[in-house]
Amino acid sequence: MPSKPHPFIPVNLPLLGGNERRYLNECIDTGWISSEGSFVKRFEMEFSELMGNRYGIAVSNGTDALELAIAALGIGPGDEVILPTFTIISCAQAVINAGATPVLVDSDPVTWNMQTDQVAAKITPRTKAIMPVHIYGLPVDMDPIINLAEKHGLYIVEDNAECIGQSYKGRPCGSFGHISTYSFYANKHVTTGEGGMVTTNDIKLDEICRGLRNLCFENPRFVHHRLGWNMRISNLQAAVGLAQVEQLEHFIEKKKAMGSRYTSELKDIAGISLPPSATDFAENIYWVYGIVLEDEIPFDAKTAIAMLHEAGIGARPFFWPMHEQPVFRDMGLFSGESYPVAEKLARRGFYPPSGLGLTEIDQERVITALKNILVSPGLGSCSHITGTTS
Ligand SMILES: *Cc1c(COP(=O)(O)O)cnc(C)c1O
Repeated sequence: MPSKPHPFIPVNLPLLGGNERRYLNECIDTGWISSEGSFVKRFEMEFSELMGNRYGIAVSNGTDALELAIAALGIGPGDEVILPTFTIISCAQAVINAGATPVLVDSDPVTWNMQTDQVAAKITPRTKAIMPVHIYGLPVDMDPIINLAEKHGLYIVEDNAECIGQSYKGRPCGSFGHISTYSFYANKHVTTGEGGMVTTNDIKLDEICRGLRNLCFENPRFVHHRLGWNMRISNLQAAVGLAQVEQLEHFIEKKKAMGSRYTSELKDIAGISLPPSATDFAENIYWVYGIVLEDEIPFDAKTAIAMLHEAGIGARPFFWPMHEQPVFRDMGLFSGESYPVAEKLARRGFYPPSGLGLTEIDQERVITALKNILVSPGLGSCSHITGTTS
């Protein structure tokens, strides 16, 4: 992986400096490269324990993990699942692919997490589950969700892809769901390149998930009573995952340092909103470091990203809300619905490089470029920042 200085600073670089290479070599030396290898079990055990769960079922990615969770809970046609409009499409897609209906709530303007006080009004006799999604490194306020779920007999599907290693009031994120899901994509706090997991404390759900992950093979083999998927993870990926889990504490410290540095350098710039360093429930672990342009900034996130790009720096827009997705509008979903906070975040929010592999020198360059773009903006186009490219 890149160790030399990079002329372009990508939005994410992973950190693979632990036992990754050693464990991968072990896979190659022993020939155990498929999902049958022992790293899969070890990774599942170590990871699920850290997340406060008894069982972990590793899968091919976080999108599959959501699909598996919804299927394992038996959610299907006629059922509704309440989730934030401001999230990745995988969440709503998992519900729709199961034949169920996603029901949306808006985001909190400060934490960008789902507004938990909007959930109660969305519960109907068809509601089967609430899907809290911890956004960008701060946890959802879980207590109101837990109370509603208990009161109405609903499942909690906790999407913890962006808060691996985070906790809510001292309890690990990922330990709140009947099933919780994770992604190990290259920009997540723990990566296997591509990969994911579901965790649970319910032995029945564990068994169902293991079956669905592996084509519902039974005894005798090749005779099936149910359809599943091939969502298996390879021993190679799990080897990387285990090495990553060993470093999680260090990774979280690194992310916190990266976030604090951005905040202390950018906090005096007028017209932008930065992520809170903490809430009543948790310190921010900055899965990404989001920046929102307020009205006084005369351009939107798309323009900011283009200007950063010009300065040799990668950046990404925030999520595009589910109720504004053309694919869902075409299905007749969410018509006439409006969620103003998420709509603003989508248009005015972006994040600069925030990966674990971001060096202090590169972060300095990013901060300089951000200041050039955001301090007294509107003076012209990109021309005033081109001097910062090298
Ligand atoms: C990354 C992510 C996913 C999807 O994970 P993949 O491994 O990319 O499929 C799901 N939910 C959230 C909140 C994510 O951030």
